[in-house]
Amino acid sequence: MARRPKEFAVFPPLAADPACLSAPGDGEPRSDWRSSLQAAVRDPDDLLDLLALPDDLRPAARAAAQLFPLVVPRSYIARMIPGDVRDPLLRQVLPLQEEFDAPPGFASDPVDDAAARTAPGLLQKYRGRALLIATGTCAVHCRYCFRRHYPYADEPRRLDDWAPALDAIRQDDSLHEVLLSGGDPLVLGDGRLRALFAALADIPHLRRVRIHSRLPIVLPDRVTRPLLDVLLGTRLQPVMVVHANHPQELRGDCVDALRRLVRGGVPTLNQAVLMRGVNDDEEALAGLCEGLIDVGVLPYYLHQLDRVRGAAHFEVAEARGRELIARLRERLPGYAVPRYVREEPGASGKTPLIGC
Ligand SMILES: *Cc1c(COP(=O)(O)O)cnc(C)c1O
Ligand code: SF4
Repeated sequence: MARRPKEFAVFPPLAADPACLSAPGDGEPRSDWRSSLQAAVRDPDDLLDLLALPDDLRPAARAAAQLFPLVVPRSYIARMIPGDVRDPLLRQVLPLQEEFDAPPGFASDPVDDAAARTAPGLLQKYRGRALLIATGTCAVHCRYCFRRHYPYADEPRRLDDWAPALDAIRQDDSLHEVLLSGGDPLVLGDGRLRALFAALADIPHLRRVRIHSRLPIVLPDRVTRPLLDVLLGTRLQPVMVVHANHPQELRGDCVDALRRLVRGGVPTLNQAVLMRGVNDDEEALAGLCEGLIDVGVLPYYLHQLDRVRGAAHFEVAEARGRELIARLRERLPGYAVPRYVREEPGASGKTPLIGC
């Protein structure tokens, strides 16, 4: 067989990827990623059926899905092991009875987002950077999400609704970077993103736009050529922060999506959350960090779980987290070890939990 240039393995020829043919703009035709998003599993019974899981999980899954609905893309389900109740990907998305536990200290807004809201959709906690809640929608619902109770309904939806947030950014010339978060900003179409980027690029003191997204991991179809064009087509330096927690997530189409981002020229970092029963062991974390490095993604943060109501069963003691990081340092290149941090309301940045 003739050897094809490496790029062809990474970037499919345009004609072979229908998503790449979609016209930009808000009237863009449904491309592959939108159908994948629409086809996400939203019924706990469907998830349990697809994975041939025991029936005794059903009542709790249905009940806890009332607290925070279940949403899981099929690409992500395809990376789970059928029949395995303890699968680390399943644990991140399966609603459990434990979500009804309300131990003291676990709150609906554990990081005090409410106090940091300086305009509708704008959170400002740290010097030099501000965060836009670009949308309330996500492609997956992570059971441990610290924004699982966030009042998204109060935030802007249409582009015009962003005017006050954009004005606030314009008036503060100490800001050099805007983070798009949510929700997941990459559920917005390319046209919407392009318009938002254009509005940001028009603010002279901004230099960078950072996108915090789990889509390259859970819905890899989203990383299309037109998306790369949007990311690279602004004067602002783009930075992508993806969110994978376990090496089993870095399989199949996810690996290709990360390579497309990295080789397309978008600096890409990963943040993970340390979670009991998901990645609180040395092999899982080492596999995650090394798997990321192997596709050109740098491990950025390992977050201590934010103490959000409904997620207490995921908490890992900080002493255990420090021990795990110490083990990683013994076996991985320095650049492959993430910063282990916690978010403390009122702090001037994420708080390191272990010295460098
Ligand atoms: C975490 C966070 C940031 C980004 O912090 P970095 O340390 O720069 O990654 C910015 N704004 C808000 C509100 C945050 O919560
Ligand atoms: S993708 Fe991010 S914002 Fe959305 S549920 Fe998961 S952790 Fe929360």
